[in-house]
This record gives sequence, structure tokens and C-alpha cells, in this order.
Amino acid sequence: MKTFEELGVAAPILKAIQEMGYESPMPVQEEVIPFLLGEDNDVIALAQTGTGKTAAFGLPILQKIDVNLCQPQALVLCPTRELCLQITDDLNEYSKYIDGLKVLPVYGGSSIESQIKTLKRGVHVVVATPGRLLDLMNRKTVNLGLVKNVILDEADEMLNMGFTESINSILAEVPSSRNMLLFSATMPQGIAGITRKYMKNPKEIVIGKKNEGNKNIKHVYYMVQARDKYLALKRIADYYPNIYGIVFCRTRKETQEIADKLIQDGYNADSLHGELSQAQRDYVMQKFRVKNVQLLVATDVAARGLDVDELTHVINYGLPDEIESYTHRSGRTGRAGRTGISISICHVKEKGKIRQIERIINKEFEKGEIPSGKAICEKQIFNLIDQVEKVKVDEEEISALLPSIFRKLEWLDKEDIIKRMVSLELNRMIDYYKDADEIQVVDERSERRSGSGERERRNGRNSANSEEGFSRFFLNFGKSDGLFPNQLIELVNKCVPGKIRIGKIDLRDNFSFFEVEEGEANRVLKEMNGYELEGRRVSVEYAQSKKGDSSGSRGGYRERKSGSNRDRGSFSPRSERKEKPWRRTSSDRSSRKKSRY
Ligand code: AMP
Repeated sequence: MKTFEELGVAAPILKAIQEMGYESPMPVQEEVIPFLLGEDNDVIALAQTGTGKTAAFGLPILQKIDVNLCQPQALVLCPTRELCLQITDDLNEYSKYIDGLKVLPVYGGSSIESQIKTLKRGVHVVVATPGRLLDLMNRKTVNLGLVKNVILDEADEMLNMGFTESINSILAEVPSSRNMLLFSATMPQGIAGITRKYMKNPKEIVIGKKNEGNKNIKHVYYMVQARDKYLALKRIADYYPNIYGIVFCRTRKETQEIADKLIQDGYNADSLHGELSQAQRDYVMQKFRVKNVQLLVATDVAARGLDVDELTHVINYGLPDEIESYTHRSGRTGRAGRTGISISICHVKEKGKIRQIERIINKEFEKGEIPSGKAICEKQIFNLIDQVEKVKVDEEEISALLPSIFRKLEWLDKEDIIKRMVSLELNRMIDYYKDADEIQVVDERSERRSGSGERERRNGRNSANSEEGFSRFFLNFGKSDGLFPNQLIELVNKCVPGKIRIGKIDLRDNFSFFEVEEGEANRVLKEMNGYELEGRRVSVEYAQSKKGDSSGSRGGYRERKSGSNRDRGSFSPRSERKEKPWRRTSSDRSSRKKSRY
């Protein structure tokens, strides 16, 4: 293996990447760097994200910049704003010891005027999404006449997103004597069109076998009845207590629904999809990046450009419509030398798709058994014990309290204390799974199923009525006000002091229903009504007659709801959210008012 120096990387860049901890080149860098340092070289590189491709193209293009010439000399095209910003960050890091080198990210959704101003002042590298760059070209505010290197990153994604025409128009403006490098995780037909038209004898580099998925990824599928998909998801999340992953759904609606259910069921989850504003998406992505969110439920499109290296799992909540998307989804785990698991929770009708994907990734799926309640409890217990072993004890901070704690517990022996500590953390989980029927794995040939489903379904969890011991309320805020289950929980927390158990939450567009324990109903009514949120009055009422405790009816709410629209303010609960700890814990569960498992 060669060193970066031997590949021709110059001193200022070497210094920067050494500081970033890059000791030796990754395979794609070994292939691409020397080639791009040359002239008139075109490359097609089949490489997944996470293989080190940003540095593979970034280091040579930066090195070839003439800083004294204040014109774009390198152009990087990529599919999303997030990827655009990330590539820009990386290029800025690599070039921090090259004085005066300027990299400009150009993407839609931000002020075009400020991009024009920066272009006028002079930049050397433009990293752009195709639509916005074309806009700037049409306004004659960007000159691509001196570009020596063009990179198409995630080319297959750009084509999937319908950028083919824009890419063609952009490439037509770039001088024909330049290096061009095209990165793609897969090689659909459209790519061949671009390479034929714009590339000359391109060198083809394949990192891993052509169309082969990353070797570090294990592919597992669970075949369940459609109605058991969510229960299977919860079991998988419970079975991997330290899971840090993306749950891919097919539609925005499904994404929001699954995220809502997970949050309601006490998981540290959030949603990412196109119906959220850009600011909300940024906020969620940032929380996920810093691991304040453990499970991100996302659509394929919204998750593009979210670059996180340490995902332990990717979960396909159903297989994607486009088989090719599977490679992108699963390629988000097992990155930068780590191992990862790509889990597919699918229906027997998707069996054929599994076989197709196996052919594409050139690897067989393992058939998974949904973990039993017993196995999950064991896993959680040993995870807890592991944490106890590893926890850092701040002797100084706790020393003053220890004598009283020891005195209080002196009647218990070591075994008792251990048993109590374990029970404190895990009783809920044990209770939940104690009588739960196992989810039956579907017989793939007959599609018959013998089990009767989980206890929660028998209990009518999904019915519209409130559960035993709970009162159901109407609330005059809904999804269109930006309300999600966690914000509703926070709203209750804010208004009503002390502990409150929250049951089912049912969010509608303009209003919502939620349940609290019957004993707390009066307090909720008293404390929440009249509370002002960004200039708008919160209104809570009983939702339906239950044991004679109702004072309203659905018809009544509808009238009220339309009346209350008049004073609808700009409620933005997301901005009021408190950061949640990494993973829910029993203390977290009991101190915050949360829905039950
Ligand atoms: P990329 O495929 O460009 O997104 O890179 C994946 C990850 O690998 C990023 O976190 C990079 O910072 C890291 N990386 C890239 N090249 C190297 C290298 N030669 N040594 C160590 N880490 C690297």
C-alpha cells in the first residue's frame, strides 16, 4: 500500500489530513488520486458512500487549484443540499493550509443573492446541486469556462431525482479538455448515456465487485404478516438496546406514522421526510448526528445526504419500490471499516424482491427469527449489567451522599440490591413481554399463520375508545400546527406539574386526541386550559363519553375547531423541544410523562 505522499499529495494537504487522522489511503483513494492529479483523465468509480470517496476526488482537485486565479476551476455536482454542505466542509478541512482557497456551496433553498455576491468576489471550487447551479448559469453569474475538474458525486441518485437534463446543460458549458470523475453506487442505464456523451476512454474503478454491496454488511430479512410489521420493528429495536439506525419507510405518511408510534411507545425516535420544513429537517438531522435520537424514521429522499458513519443498523420497513434504493439504504451502515446490519421487515409478497436484491448485491440474505420476549429481556438485562460494569463513578461528587445511602440500604445484602436494581430498570419490559404471544414468522410457502398476535392487539390498543383507566381528551392543536407526539407530551409536561401517565395519542390534521390516567383528568383539564402557546390558547376537553365523564362530543369539537382557527398562531413546538438523552432509561421513563409500552 502506498502512502499519501507517494500518491503525490502535496505538503499543505498532507498536514491537514494527518490532523484529521488519515494515516494511509483507502483503496478508492489509492486508485483515484494519482489519476486525477494527471491531465485529461476521466474516471467512472463504482463505490458506495463511506469508502473515502470525498478525499479521493477532493485532495487532487484542491491540489490543482491556482489560488491566484479567482475563478471556478473545479466543479462538484451532487444530489442534495446536505451532501453539498458536507462535501464543502470536507474540502475546507483538506484545504485549511492552502491560503486563500475558497469553496462555495451552491444549493436551492438558500439565498441566491448571497451566492451571487460570493461568486462575484471569486471562488475556486463550486460544490453544487444541479438545479441551483443551472439557475446561476442562466443568470450569467457563474463562469465555468476555466473548470479543469468535474466531479459527479452519487450520479445514480442525481438521475433518480430527475436531474439528467440539468446535468446535460451544465456539462455542455464546461470545457471539453478537463478531468471528469463520476461516482455512483450502482450503474443504471442513464449513467451509460452520460459517460458515452461526456467522457473519453474513462478508467473504470470498482471498489468491491461491480454492483456488490459492502462486505461489512449483514443482510437479514424477517417475513411477517403486514399487521405484525410494527410489532416486529419494536422487537428488533428492543433486542438491540444500543441500536443507532435509520428506519426507511416508503411514504411520508408511513414515515410520520411509524415515528409517532415509536415515540408514543417510549422509543428515542424522530421522523425525517419532505413534509417537514427545511429548518425542522436540519434540526432532526443534527439531533441524529449527535446521537440525541437513536432511531430516525425516514423516507429515501429525505435521508439522502445525511451522512453518518456509525450506524449500527438500517431497517427497511418494507422493501423499497426501486430495488436499486436497497443498495443506498443498506450502504448507510457498515461504513468506514465498521460492520453493520441491514434488516428488512417484509411481507411474503416481497419474497421475489429479496431474490432480485440478492442478485444485485451478490450476497444472500439471512432469514431472521423475530426475537422472543425472553430473549429480548435477557439481552436488555445483560446490556444493563454491562453498563453497570463500565459506568464511570465520580467518587468526589457522590462521596457526601454515600454514608446516608449505605445506611438506608444496609438491611439488604448484595444479591438483594442487584435484584432490585435490575428490576427497577427492567420490570416494564418484563411485564410487557411476559404474556405476549410470539410473533409468528410467516410460512413463506403457504402464508399461513397460527399465532393469535400480541396481547396488546387483543386488548384493543388500536381501537378508537380510551383504554381502561384512562380518559380521552380533545386538544385544539394538530399536525398542521407542527404538533407531533413528543411535542404533545412536552406540552402536557409543561402545563401540568408532577407525574402523569399518558396513554394513546391520536394526531389529526387540525386537532388531536390524547389519553391520561382517569385520576389525573381534572388536573389536566384545569392546568392545560387557558395555557397560552405563542399567542394561542390551548383548549382541552373530554373527547367522548366514557363512564359518564364526558361533557362533549365529536361534533362539538368540529364546530369549536373551525372557530378556533381564527386565532391560530405560529406554533412551532419543535423549537421548544428539550434535548432527550441518548436512550430512554427507566428513570427517563418514569420522570417524564410518557405513554406506556
Ligand atoms: P466518504 O466516503 O468520503 O464519506 O468517507 C467516509 C469516512 O471515512 C469519512 O468519515 C472520512 O473522513 C473517512 N476517511 C476518508 N479517507 C480516510 C482515510 N484515508 N483514513 C481514515 N479515514 C478516512
